[in-house]
Amino acid sequence: MRVLLLNPPRRISPQRQEVIVNAPLAACLITGYIAATLRAARIPVEVLEADLEGWDLDQTASAIASTRGMGERLLLGVHLVYQWEETLDILRMLEGLKAEGNLDHLSLYGFFPTFAWRELLGLFPFVDSIVRGEPELTFLELVRRLSGGHEWRDARGLAWMDQGRLQLNPARPLIDPLDPLPFPLRPPPSLLQGRNPDNYLLGSRGCYNHCSFCYLTPFYQGQRRWRGRTPQNIVSEIGQVLEETGSSSFYFADANFFGPGEKGQERARELARILRGEGLSIRFGLECRANDVQEETLAQLQEAGLTHLFVGIESGSDEVLGLIEKNTTASINEEAVRTAQRLGLKLSTGFIMFEPDARLGHIRESFEFLKRLGLLRSPSITAHLLHHPLVVLRGTKSFSRLLSQDRLAVDPLLQYEGRYRFVDPRVESLAQLMTRISCRALQTNEDQDYDPQEGCYRIPHALEGERLRRLNDLLIDTFARALEWLEAGGDGPAREGLVPLEEAFSREIVK
Ligand code: SF4
Repeated sequence: MRVLLLNPPRRISPQRQEVIVNAPLAACLITGYIAATLRAARIPVEVLEADLEGWDLDQTASAIASTRGMGERLLLGVHLVYQWEETLDILRMLEGLKAEGNLDHLSLYGFFPTFAWRELLGLFPFVDSIVRGEPELTFLELVRRLSGGHEWRDARGLAWMDQGRLQLNPARPLIDPLDPLPFPLRPPPSLLQGRNPDNYLLGSRGCYNHCSFCYLTPFYQGQRRWRGRTPQNIVSEIGQVLEETGSSSFYFADANFFGPGEKGQERARELARILRGEGLSIRFGLECRANDVQEETLAQLQEAGLTHLFVGIESGSDEVLGLIEKNTTASINEEAVRTAQRLGLKLSTGFIMFEPDARLGHIRESFEFLKRLGLLRSPSITAHLLHHPLVVLRGTKSFSRLLSQDRLAVDPLLQYEGRYRFVDPRVESLAQLMTRISCRALQTNEDQDYDPQEGCYRIPHALEGERLRRLNDLLIDTFARALEWLEAGGDGPAREGLVPLEEAFSREIVK
């Protein structure tokens, strides 16, 4: 049986202006790990990188159809990512392929199918199976059983439909330790040219926290377990990639790079020691929680090549951090940001300006926090930081809580995404205004403040700097004036005070 894995095309939704929340970054290697696991078991597998190829759906369908040789059976595994309004188009493309007899077995994997397995199997009967959670070993077993002509339906980790009845098999134990997993198969370097960074790494899986909005812990069966590869194993992979590609730019896609406590710090310092000891000249970035930002550890990682740091700070308000169960505080966040700034790291932050239970006071705290720390520095960043609402997806605690409070309007078809009512209508008005004007600013700006050399956003010193600075100031000023108007008691269904602000923004942005 021929095995083909697909990373489908991805498009940025003009309404959302982002793709990042559809699947955690950690999912970016999911197909590569499955492919490597199959190859390690001597099972031939091909990967179609429709996303990196820049293909549309027709091109993708043709490529899949032409893969199958005469008389061959084809198993297609698809890393299905929730792509807002575009998701249905991908499913229709798969339906067409199945109807034309091009696929013998269609299996979906990834975060979206793991949580929306009921809806996907119920609505799309052409899907044969769904691999839930950590996929490598389940997919391997599926391939072995199908290739050998054996019964596949009782394989652990699978969901499937039996004559109209949903079936969910028991979960497979989490992979632990991770070192025995083969290094993930990577897209050919030609497809990565011009992308920043060149190479993703996954040094760990899982998280020791369970934030209310995050589906990482539920993906790993609700276990608050952080599992790390050994530093030696990570460095071996880096060495191999360097040798094969000559490319020295890496980014850890781990949702939470550091393991818990002092042990987690020591592991990171050991990684830095080995990288330096091996004399590997690389630059890399990583993502972590604010409470794991320790200057000494980061300084050692910096000496080993760390340049970019992403910290999920989420809020400048202790109460909001409590609401989202972040288990950090605003002062921990502040110290983390100042540490990164002292070290001169290129810092990005995860931020949720609009939490469904937030009050205007919380919004004010977060706004002052962002200004105080100098985080509103270029229009793309400012637009994101000032408008991000909590995204509520199935699988998270927020989804269940808001649903039980009857505050969630769930997408009627896929039932994966929920739109909620804020407790404070004034916060809702501000959130809606900021979504509209931030998306407008992002469309107008088209990443002109992105510096591909540095791999980060900043206002360049060149001529266009003045225009970008004005756009940045316009966003901050509109937010500040809208917040002040609402704080002064501005309310009512028409939100009259916000309308002129939006009109003024529309006039200014085209200047
Ligand atoms: S810290 Fe929270 S948001 Fe980050 S990975 Fe862990 S649970 Fe998810």
